[in-house]
Amino acid sequence: MSNVPNFSNAPVVRTRFAPSPTGEMHIGGFRTVFYSWLLARKHGGQFILRIEDTDQARSKEGVINKLIEGLNWLSLNFDEGPNAGGQFGPYYQSDRLGIYAHYAAQILEKGHVYPCFCSEERLETLRQEQQKRGLATTGYDRKCRNIPEKEAAQRMADGEPYVLRLKIPVTGVTVLQDALRGEMKFNNALLEDSVMLKSDGYPTYHFASVVDDHLMKISHVLRGDEWLPSFPLHGLLYSYFGWEIPVTAHLPVVMGDDGKKLSKRHGAEPVLVYKDRGYLPDATLNFLALLGWAYDSESEIFSVDELIANFSLERVHTSPAKFDATRLQWMNGVYIRKISLDELTENVLPFLEKPEAEGGLPDSVQRPINRDYLRSFIHLDQERMKTFADAAFLTNFFFVDDLDYLPELLIDKKIDSAGALQALRMSRSALTNLAEWDHDSIEHALRGVAAEMNVKAGPVFMGVRVAVTGRKETPPLMETMLVLGRERCLRRMDTAIQRLEKIQVPAETTQ
Ligand code: GLU
Repeated sequence: MSNVPNFSNAPVVRTRFAPSPTGEMHIGGFRTVFYSWLLARKHGGQFILRIEDTDQARSKEGVINKLIEGLNWLSLNFDEGPNAGGQFGPYYQSDRLGIYAHYAAQILEKGHVYPCFCSEERLETLRQEQQKRGLATTGYDRKCRNIPEKEAAQRMADGEPYVLRLKIPVTGVTVLQDALRGEMKFNNALLEDSVMLKSDGYPTYHFASVVDDHLMKISHVLRGDEWLPSFPLHGLLYSYFGWEIPVTAHLPVVMGDDGKKLSKRHGAEPVLVYKDRGYLPDATLNFLALLGWAYDSESEIFSVDELIANFSLERVHTSPAKFDATRLQWMNGVYIRKISLDELTENVLPFLEKPEAEGGLPDSVQRPINRDYLRSFIHLDQERMKTFADAAFLTNFFFVDDLDYLPELLIDKKIDSAGALQALRMSRSALTNLAEWDHDSIEHALRGVAAEMNVKAGPVFMGVRVAVTGRKETPPLMETMLVLGRERCLRRMDTAIQRLEKIQVPAETTQ
């Protein structure tokens, strides 16, 4: 007998992303989506996209397309959903009204929901009265729960508008298992007879979500812990229908750096904004994975495949995660350092080509940017790039001759301005006379200048560096000069010499 375990009877893991198209989701929300996706991929299951568009008044055009674009950017592919098909569709809840009506009738028949005929006005007055009396829990007062069944049925048949409300047990506790928090007890007395079906025939989130999770055979529901108050309602619905409740995990909230719930105010933008800002999808996913999950106390860098292999709900924390934008930036830098020259070039190019006002190269630089030229040096900046949006600043001097810098920058602390001028003049002539324009010859020439002046090589290199790039922090000097070529370097050194000459104190120069 083989001792290879037989998994053929293991339940299929099916998870879902069930967005309501009421507003764009910020990056923190994708953490939950990613965990759901990881769980499905880890177990060879399916990931489903279902659009919860039952709140017609609040649904916004375009939000779904943006979400799908976000999923595509992160390569979080779904197996079933709008445009992907699947046997459990349709995947827009607004196309499933008949299904909800069917199940609403079923549960009404069983007596677990009741019609409520209260008008909006009555409910509003009720709310105001409860507020005035300072009640801790406000909610529906169950007036219609006591209407005799026959009378209620007659009023429904007569066409009186109604909603269906869930009959919450008046006493006792609802006990449920949360995959992260273990057993949770909810006091029924604090729960409201919430609406399941609205008067226009649309279900509420609670009802549609439970019915669909069941019909779509969702095995694991992962959602943010802002949904915890809904958990007992869902638990009761499952038990009233006699359905098995999926494994449910309420993920800890993501905090901004001020300890408050992450929001746009903390710079948490929709995920596509991160694409526009020059983040790599894999770095973003790695960062999201660590918002509430850890493999151990040290490991930080995980490829998507490693995450699929290692992710488990057991290692998800229950304490709030902190969204640290600096960490995301650092992580992106780590990923940028890993990509090939081709990938780097292709990623950087569109950022350089943006208009100057949007962070691209100066408008004076001709577009399209020469790809081969970019390819010849962009690796020199790979170490220092945190996002592709940094590229225009980092590479500017490879494209622009007219460098904008303070002449004082040319004077290294260790030599005075006369020394700096002398070093630049000598360097210029040494470089002019070089037989070969290569790394070693340039270095040898500049070291020779330092030796002749009896100063350290550092200040000489720094003067040349600032002259040819306009700044003190650059990629390695010789490599940079090779890319720029001798002509351009000498021209820039001439300009630097003129600038230094202008700031010379006469007493110094005459000595
Ligand atoms: N439609 C809900 C939302 O927009 C889904 C919550 C859940 O995952 O159950 O967040």
